[in-house]
Amino acid sequence: MKTSTRQAITRRMACCVGWVLVGGVVAGCSSSATGASHTVRDGQLVVTGSAPEARLRTVVRDARTAVDRVRKLWGSSVLTEPVHIEVPADDAGFRAAGGSAEPGAQIAATTTAAGRVVLAPALFSQVTGQGVVVVLTHELTHVALHQAGDSDIARWVVEGAAEFTAYRPTGLTLPRLAPQLAAAVRAGHVPIGPPSDARFRSAPQAAYQEAYAWCAFLVDRFGTTRFTGFVRSVHTGQLAEFAAAFGSSMRSLRPPFQQFLRTQVAADSTSSATGG
Ligand SMILES: [Zn+2]
Repeated sequence: MKTSTRQAITRRMACCVGWVLVGGVVAGCSSSATGASHTVRDGQLVVTGSAPEARLRTVVRDARTAVDRVRKLWGSSVLTEPVHIEVPADDAGFRAAGGSAEPGAQIAATTTAAGRVVLAPALFSQVTGQGVVVVLTHELTHVALHQAGDSDIARWVVEGAAEFTAYRPTGLTLPRLAPQLAAAVRAGHVPIGPPSDARFRSAPQAAYQEAYAWCAFLVDRFGTTRFTGFVRSVHTGQLAEFAAAFGSSMRSLRPPFQQFLRTQVAADSTSSATGG
Protein backbone atom coordinates (compact mmCIF):
# COMPACT_ATOMS: atom_id res chain seq x y z
CA MET A 1 0.00 0.00 0.00
CA LYS A 2 1.27 3.36 -0.91
CA THR A 3 0.54 6.52 0.95
CA SER A 4 2.16 9.22 -1.04
CA THR A 5 2.57 12.34 0.95
CA ARG A 6 3.18 14.56 -1.99
CA GLN A 7 5.19 17.64 -1.39
CA ALA A 8 7.19 20.10 -3.39
CA ILE A 9 10.78 19.26 -4.27
CA THR A 10 13.36 21.90 -4.43
CA ARG A 11 16.68 22.28 -6.12
CA ARG A 12 19.36 24.23 -4.36
CA MET A 13 21.58 26.56 -6.31
CA ALA A 14 24.61 24.69 -4.96
CA CYS A 15 23.35 21.62 -6.77
CA CYS A 16 23.75 23.34 -10.14
CA VAL A 17 27.27 22.15 -10.61
CA GLY A 18 30.18 22.52 -13.00
CA TRP A 19 30.06 25.30 -15.57
CA VAL A 20 26.40 25.68 -14.92
CA LEU A 21 27.03 28.12 -12.08
CA VAL A 22 28.16 31.56 -13.12
CA GLY A 23 31.06 32.63 -10.99
CA GLY A 24 31.13 36.24 -9.88
CA VAL A 25 30.15 38.51 -12.73
CA VAL A 26 26.62 38.06 -13.87
CA ALA A 27 24.56 39.33 -16.73
CA GLY A 28 22.85 42.38 -15.32
CA CYS A 29 19.34 41.49 -16.27
CA SER A 30 17.69 42.13 -12.92
CA SER A 31 14.87 44.51 -13.54
CA SER A 32 13.19 46.40 -10.75
CA ALA A 33 9.98 46.51 -12.74
CA THR A 34 7.94 43.97 -10.86
CA GLY A 35 4.84 44.70 -12.81
CA ALA A 36 1.82 42.70 -13.70
CA SER A 37 1.94 39.03 -14.48
CA HIS A 38 2.26 38.02 -18.14
CA THR A 39 1.71 34.69 -19.81
CA VAL A 40 3.57 33.40 -22.85
CA ARG A 41 2.30 30.21 -24.49
CA ASP A 42 3.96 27.94 -26.99
CA GLY A 43 2.27 24.62 -27.67
CA GLN A 44 1.78 22.90 -24.33
CA LEU A 45 4.12 25.32 -22.57
CA VAL A 46 2.49 27.95 -20.38
CA VAL A 47 5.04 30.33 -18.89
CA THR A 48 3.62 32.88 -16.46
CA GLY A 49 5.08 35.44 -14.14
CA SER A 50 5.82 38.97 -13.10
CA ALA A 51 9.35 38.81 -14.54
CA PRO A 52 9.96 40.93 -17.66
CA GLU A 53 8.32 39.49 -20.75
CA ALA A 54 11.69 39.06 -22.48
CA ARG A 55 12.69 36.66 -19.70
CA LEU A 56 9.47 34.70 -20.08
CA ARG A 57 10.21 34.33 -23.80
CA THR A 58 13.71 33.09 -23.03
CA VAL A 59 12.24 30.57 -20.60
CA VAL A 60 9.81 29.36 -23.27
CA ARG A 61 12.72 28.82 -25.68
CA ASP A 62 14.81 27.01 -23.05
CA ALA A 63 11.84 24.95 -21.87
CA ARG A 64 11.22 23.83 -25.45
CA THR A 65 14.78 22.47 -25.54
CA ALA A 66 14.25 20.89 -22.11
CA VAL A 67 11.01 19.17 -23.20
CA ASP A 68 12.81 17.72 -26.24
CA ARG A 69 15.57 16.39 -24.01
CA VAL A 70 13.14 14.80 -21.55
CA ARG A 71 11.23 13.14 -24.39
CA LYS A 72 14.39 11.85 -25.98
CA LEU A 73 14.94 9.65 -22.93
CA TRP A 74 11.40 9.07 -21.65
CA GLY A 75 9.44 8.93 -24.91
CA SER A 76 7.14 11.23 -26.82
CA SER A 77 4.15 10.34 -24.64
CA VAL A 78 5.42 12.45 -21.73
CA LEU A 79 4.78 16.18 -21.24
CA THR A 80 1.92 16.30 -23.70
CA GLU A 81 -0.41 17.97 -21.17
CA PRO A 82 -0.02 21.69 -20.44
CA VAL A 83 3.29 22.34 -18.69
CA HIS A 84 3.11 25.28 -16.27
CA ILE A 85 6.27 27.21 -15.46
CA GLU A 86 6.19 30.25 -13.21
CA VAL A 87 8.81 32.97 -13.41
CA PRO A 88 8.35 35.44 -10.56
CA ALA A 89 10.29 38.69 -10.64
CA ASP A 90 11.36 38.62 -7.00
CA ASP A 91 11.74 36.38 -3.96
CA ALA A 92 8.37 37.35 -2.50
CA GLY A 93 6.73 36.28 -5.75
CA PHE A 94 8.76 33.07 -5.71
CA ARG A 95 7.48 32.14 -2.27
CA ALA A 96 3.93 33.18 -3.13
CA ALA A 97 4.03 30.84 -6.14
CA GLY A 98 5.04 27.89 -3.98
CA GLY A 99 8.81 28.29 -4.15
CA SER A 100 10.72 26.91 -1.21
CA ALA A 101 11.65 29.26 1.62
CA GLU A 102 14.27 26.94 3.05
CA PRO A 103 16.36 29.13 5.35
CA GLY A 104 20.00 29.54 4.44
CA ALA A 105 19.75 27.59 1.18
CA GLN A 106 19.99 29.30 -2.18
CA ILE A 107 17.17 27.83 -4.17
CA ALA A 108 17.24 27.48 -7.96
CA ALA A 109 13.80 26.01 -8.60
CA THR A 110 10.91 24.18 -7.00
CA THR A 111 8.54 21.70 -8.57
CA THR A 112 5.32 21.89 -6.58
CA ALA A 113 3.25 18.89 -5.63
CA ALA A 114 0.76 19.96 -8.29
CA GLY A 115 3.52 19.65 -10.91
CA ARG A 116 4.14 23.35 -11.56
CA VAL A 117 7.76 24.42 -11.93
CA VAL A 118 8.62 27.66 -10.13
CA LEU A 119 11.94 29.25 -11.08
CA ALA A 120 13.79 31.34 -8.51
CA PRO A 121 14.79 34.85 -9.63
CA ALA A 122 18.38 34.10 -8.57
CA LEU A 123 18.55 31.38 -11.22
CA PHE A 124 18.89 34.01 -13.91
CA SER A 125 21.74 35.87 -12.26
CA GLN A 126 23.74 32.90 -10.96
CA VAL A 127 23.44 30.24 -13.61
CA THR A 128 24.52 30.34 -17.27
CA GLY A 129 21.98 30.12 -20.08
CA GLN A 130 22.89 26.49 -20.69
CA GLY A 131 22.60 25.94 -16.96
CA VAL A 132 19.02 27.20 -17.03
CA VAL A 133 18.28 24.53 -19.67
CA VAL A 134 19.82 21.91 -17.37
CA VAL A 135 17.70 23.08 -14.42
CA LEU A 136 14.53 23.12 -16.55
CA THR A 137 15.29 19.64 -17.94
CA HIS A 138 15.81 18.35 -14.40
CA GLU A 139 12.54 19.85 -13.14
CA LEU A 140 10.54 18.79 -16.20
CA THR A 141 11.77 15.22 -15.70
CA HIS A 142 10.06 15.30 -12.29
CA VAL A 143 6.91 16.63 -13.96
CA ALA A 144 7.06 14.03 -16.77
CA LEU A 145 7.47 11.16 -14.30
CA HIS A 146 4.90 12.60 -11.84
CA GLN A 147 7.45 12.25 -9.10
CA ALA A 148 7.23 15.62 -7.37
CA GLY A 149 7.96 14.81 -3.77
CA ASP A 150 6.90 11.19 -3.88
CA SER A 151 8.35 10.38 -0.50
CA ASP A 152 8.12 6.58 -0.81
CA ILE A 153 10.83 6.38 -3.45
CA ALA A 154 14.52 6.52 -2.61
CA ARG A 155 15.83 9.97 -3.49
CA TRP A 156 18.66 8.64 -5.62
CA VAL A 157 16.06 7.29 -8.04
CA VAL A 158 14.12 10.55 -8.27
CA GLU A 159 17.06 12.95 -8.33
CA GLY A 160 19.47 10.66 -10.17
CA ALA A 161 17.01 10.11 -13.01
CA ALA A 162 16.43 13.87 -13.30
CA GLU A 163 20.15 14.64 -13.19
CA PHE A 164 20.92 11.97 -15.76
CA THR A 165 18.21 13.31 -18.09
CA ALA A 166 19.46 16.87 -17.65
CA TYR A 167 23.20 16.31 -17.97
CA ARG A 168 23.50 13.48 -20.49
CA PRO A 169 22.74 15.69 -23.56
CA THR A 170 25.38 18.24 -22.49
CA GLY A 171 28.19 15.78 -23.21
CA LEU A 172 30.00 16.96 -20.08
CA THR A 173 32.40 14.47 -18.56
CA LEU A 174 31.79 13.15 -15.06
CA PRO A 175 34.54 15.28 -13.47
CA ARG A 176 33.12 18.43 -15.09
CA LEU A 177 29.58 17.90 -13.91
CA ALA A 178 30.44 16.15 -10.64
CA PRO A 179 33.62 17.90 -9.46
CA GLN A 180 33.14 17.10 -5.79
CA LEU A 181 32.68 13.40 -6.51
CA ALA A 182 35.67 13.37 -8.87
CA ALA A 183 37.84 14.94 -6.17
CA ALA A 184 36.71 12.30 -3.70
CA VAL A 185 37.51 9.50 -6.16
CA ARG A 186 40.98 10.95 -6.79
CA ALA A 187 41.52 11.07 -3.03
CA GLY A 188 40.61 7.38 -2.78
CA HIS A 189 37.14 7.93 -1.29
CA VAL A 190 35.21 5.99 -3.91
CA PRO A 191 31.48 5.52 -3.24
CA ILE A 192 30.19 1.94 -3.21
CA GLY A 193 26.62 2.65 -4.29
CA PRO A 194 23.93 5.31 -4.54
CA PRO A 195 23.66 8.04 -1.87
CA SER A 196 21.23 7.46 0.99
CA ASP A 197 18.29 9.76 1.65
CA ALA A 198 20.17 10.98 4.72
CA ARG A 199 23.07 12.07 2.53
CA PHE A 200 20.74 14.26 0.48
CA ARG A 201 19.98 16.12 3.71
CA SER A 202 23.51 16.30 5.11
CA ALA A 203 25.53 16.84 1.91
CA PRO A 204 23.08 17.64 -0.90
CA GLN A 205 25.62 18.76 -3.46
CA ALA A 206 27.64 15.55 -3.17
CA ALA A 207 24.46 13.47 -3.09
CA TYR A 208 23.20 14.90 -6.40
CA GLN A 209 26.54 14.13 -8.02
CA GLU A 210 26.65 10.60 -6.61
CA ALA A 211 23.05 9.94 -7.70
CA TYR A 212 23.94 11.07 -11.23
CA ALA A 213 27.00 8.83 -11.29
CA TRP A 214 25.11 5.77 -10.04
CA CYS A 215 22.41 6.25 -12.69
CA ALA A 216 25.01 6.81 -15.43
CA PHE A 217 26.66 3.58 -14.29
CA LEU A 218 23.37 1.66 -14.43
CA VAL A 219 22.69 2.91 -17.97
CA ASP A 220 26.24 2.05 -19.00
CA ARG A 221 25.93 -1.47 -17.62
CA PHE A 222 22.29 -2.38 -18.23
CA GLY A 223 21.20 -0.06 -21.02
CA THR A 224 18.74 2.81 -21.22
CA THR A 225 15.58 0.71 -21.55
CA ARG A 226 16.26 -1.29 -18.39
CA PHE A 227 17.07 1.86 -16.47
CA THR A 228 14.02 3.86 -17.59
CA GLY A 229 11.79 0.83 -17.04
CA PHE A 230 13.02 0.57 -13.46
CA VAL A 231 12.50 4.29 -12.76
CA ARG A 232 8.99 4.26 -14.24
CA SER A 233 7.82 1.24 -12.26
CA VAL A 234 9.66 1.74 -8.99
CA HIS A 235 7.78 1.90 -5.69
CA THR A 236 10.61 2.32 -3.24
CA GLY A 237 13.91 1.73 -5.00
CA GLN A 238 15.07 -0.32 -2.05
CA LEU A 239 17.30 -3.38 -2.23
CA ALA A 240 14.86 -6.16 -3.15
CA GLU A 241 13.09 -4.12 -5.80
CA PHE A 242 16.41 -3.08 -7.27
CA ALA A 243 17.70 -6.65 -7.42
CA ALA A 244 14.51 -7.87 -9.09
CA ALA A 245 14.72 -5.17 -11.76
CA PHE A 246 18.40 -5.48 -12.60
CA GLY A 247 19.08 -9.11 -11.75
CA SER A 248 22.00 -7.98 -9.60
CA SER A 249 22.18 -6.88 -5.99
CA MET A 250 23.54 -3.45 -5.16
CA ARG A 251 26.22 -5.20 -3.16
CA SER A 252 27.43 -7.21 -6.15
CA LEU A 253 27.66 -4.00 -8.17
CA ARG A 254 30.07 -2.32 -5.79
CA PRO A 255 33.31 -3.34 -7.57
CA PRO A 256 32.12 -2.51 -11.10
CA PHE A 257 30.67 0.81 -9.91
CA GLN A 258 33.95 1.78 -8.30
CA GLN A 259 35.80 0.75 -11.44
CA PHE A 260 33.39 2.84 -13.54
CA LEU A 261 34.08 5.90 -11.40
CA ARG A 262 37.84 5.45 -11.50
CA THR A 263 37.79 5.02 -15.27
CA GLN A 264 35.62 8.09 -15.83
CA VAL A 265 37.82 10.25 -13.64
CA ALA A 266 41.07 8.93 -15.14
CA ALA A 267 39.81 9.36 -18.71
CA ASP A 268 39.07 13.02 -18.08
CA SER A 269 42.50 13.63 -16.53
CA THR A 270 44.11 12.08 -19.61
CA SER A 271 42.11 14.21 -22.03
CA SER A 272 42.84 17.45 -20.16
CA ALA A 273 46.52 16.54 -19.89
CA THR A 274 46.77 16.18 -23.63
CA GLY A 275 45.13 19.57 -23.97
CA GLY A 276 41.83 18.84 -25.69
ZN1 LIG B 1 15.10 17.36 -8.37
